[in-house]
Amino acid sequence: MEPVIGIDLGTTYSAVATLDSGRPALIPSRAGARLTPSVVGFTAMGERVVGERAQILGDEAPERAAPATKRFIGKRWSAALEKAAKLVVPYPVLAGPQGEVRIKVAGRVMPLTQVSAMLLGELKLDAEAHFGRPVSKCVITVPANFDEGQRQATREAARIAGLEVMRLLNEPTAAAMAYGLVNSFQGRALVFDLGGGTFDVSVLEMENGVYEVRATGGDPQLGGDDFDARIVQWLVAQVPDLYREAVVKDRVSMQRLRYAAERAKRTLSDKPEAFISVSELGDHSSGEGRFCQLDTALTRAFFESLSEPLTTRCLDVCRQVLDAAKLTAQDIEAVMLVGGMTRMPLVRELVTRFFGHPPVTGVNPDEAVALGAAVHAAELSSRQGQTVLIDVASHTLSVGVLGGTVRKLIPRNSPVPATAKDAFLPGRTGQTQARIPVYQGESDFADECTKLGEVVLHELNVVNRADVPIEVSFELSNEGTLSVRAVDTTTGMAEALRIEARTTLSTSEVDSLKAEQAAYSEAQAEKDKALAIQTFPRVLDKAERLVRLLEKSAEENPSPEADTAVGQVKALLAQGRVAVRLQDTGQMAEVTRLLERLVALS
Ligand code: AMP
Repeated sequence: MEPVIGIDLGTTYSAVATLDSGRPALIPSRAGARLTPSVVGFTAMGERVVGERAQILGDEAPERAAPATKRFIGKRWSAALEKAAKLVVPYPVLAGPQGEVRIKVAGRVMPLTQVSAMLLGELKLDAEAHFGRPVSKCVITVPANFDEGQRQATREAARIAGLEVMRLLNEPTAAAMAYGLVNSFQGRALVFDLGGGTFDVSVLEMENGVYEVRATGGDPQLGGDDFDARIVQWLVAQVPDLYREAVVKDRVSMQRLRYAAERAKRTLSDKPEAFISVSELGDHSSGEGRFCQLDTALTRAFFESLSEPLTTRCLDVCRQVLDAAKLTAQDIEAVMLVGGMTRMPLVRELVTRFFGHPPVTGVNPDEAVALGAAVHAAELSSRQGQTVLIDVASHTLSVGVLGGTVRKLIPRNSPVPATAKDAFLPGRTGQTQARIPVYQGESDFADECTKLGEVVLHELNVVNRADVPIEVSFELSNEGTLSVRAVDTTTGMAEALRIEARTTLSTSEVDSLKAEQAAYSEAQAEKDKALAIQTFPRVLDKAERLVRLLEKSAEENPSPEADTAVGQVKALLAQGRVAVRLQDTGQMAEVTRLLERLVALS
């Protein structure tokens, strides 16, 4: 069967996983790492680097690398967004032709979906190297509070990367699925997912393979970067007065401070104090070369007091989501921590105090989401019905009405798929067309919600507005795609709108980015293939040594099991030799995997 993968496209780190003999397992990157930093960069020679190499490049030359772009994907550009971005990322954010956000990195202006596509493309290559053959079908996870635009942009990125998305899955749900499967857990669980850029909470009931989300919520502007920003503010206050203004304006200096702050934050998860030393703080653009150095120490206790407003916000979100699920903290049997920030001891303490018991262990917080995505991908591809997922709408969906308000048709946290219908009257007598704007958001006021699009009904004949009711129906699919239909009930004329069709880039731009990505991937895949062919003989050498070892031990301690083990490795060895003759990298990858499993079991 064609391999399928689950992808956690994270703000700071990404991971790819698959189901291996019924258990989810991470696919290591080609560099041998479990996680891939979500960073894309370009060297001075113009070479594209992704993951760890891009992260290292960014530490040396911040203007050449783009970390944390997920913060802005699928968003509309605004001056406020640009200002907020300055505090957390080293690159400028610009407005694209459709009002979308683009970034400038190493002198190139890039759509965010292209940056995400480069990350996805890298994970795809990792999976292809693992399986030794092409992989396209996947499940990609997104924060539960991602809105329609952000989901669309993620799909667009996947399209550019040449991936077929079977489903977008909410991250907390994915984590719960992995936990449920690995630990055979049944009951009420809350997933507390504090990552680099976002905070998500979901409450689920898990029973016999049925995962029912009861409520979900979050704060899309709360994550590890905000904790870093608090430390950065504290550091800036310690910069000598003479340099402070220049440092705040200087991207390189600010990136150095952010980097040091993040390191210190991690250190404080293990130690009571972190020493911070940042050099060359000043104006890097003028070439004057007047820099200062900052040496200081941050204690865990002080960092916790700096973080208090942020941790308070986390618990507020938990309360809101429990309220929406009509549950209390005491009803929750298992709290699962997901996201790198949950390694912070204070977060664990607060969770323990709030729920009255410590969070569960057993699934690595950095890996749970990708593992759950792999579980769901396997289920969608095999359709064996072993797991059933009932999710909820993460935002309220409404129709705009007169007076700048909205009428809510599908409230947030309604189980999906969901349908709703309502009748609306035209605004005035004599009008020949009606515009029905569709909004997403929790406010009663249209201008505080996000407009998803509008359905336009033409050829209306409104002699008396009360006589021409327009029926609007919403249909929300189980992965959050909305279809809207409006019918003039007097004539039966109808118009439909599938919000899914909305993308951030023009079709021609998507096509050209896709072609560019495909050419890059093809060249990389060729290199990976050559490398696999070159290194596989070493695997066969290992297998030969293993056969000799097993034969020796079978001679010394004869048993049917020992004979089976010898037979299994010999069969793999034979399969491997055929693979070499045929230059079949798929077979080579399979032999390698099976051998590794045998070695791990023996
Ligand atoms: P994620 O998006 O889930 O990969 O989360 C990444 C966030 O977790 C970043 O803000 C990291 O700085 C933070 N993080 C990772 N490891 C630790 C740690 N040991 N202690 C505190 N924060 C961490």
